[in-house]
Amino acid sequence: MPKVQTARGGKAPFEFVGTSEKLFGEDLEDFTGEIKIVGEVEDVGKSFVVRGRIECKKIFICDRCLAQAEKNQVHKFVEEFDKAEAIDDVIDVSEFLRDELLAAQPMKNLCREDCKGLCPECGANLNEGECGCEKFIFDPRLAALENFKLE
Ligand SMILES: [Zn+2]
Ligand SMILES: [Zn+2]
Repeated sequence: MPKVQTARGGKAPFEFVGTSEKLFGEDLEDFTGEIKIVGEVEDVGKSFVVRGRIECKKIFICDRCLAQAEKNQVHKFVEEFDKAEAIDDVIDVSEFLRDELLAAQPMKNLCREDCKGLCPECGANLNEGECGCEKFIFDPRLAALENFKLE
């Protein structure tokens, strides 16, 4: 569990590497493999400032094409801890980091920004090529032209 050793009046670096189970005591199945957390804690007088970044790999199902995908993520964090939270000059940051990682997740999970998704007709994954279905894209201007008949 990530606990940072503070340095009175100065800065102290920290680094944690491990699975979510090891780091947070909880198996976050989206994040398989190792999660790396690097940063530093600084004594700013009235409080301790903890800052750094979380590096991880997320495995997920693409919201658009439903294929399994993975993406490397880097999340920066900075947080102020009350000095009372440091017990024997050590701050437990496990819960903070876990919450930080989960809060940083995007609303949409796409295998890539321009994921073409699935064909609404046959369900084929359009990232793998055209399925051959006719795509009807409604365009009101074209519709107006079709209704226009020469007399
Ligand atoms: Zn996709
Ligand atoms: Zn199709």
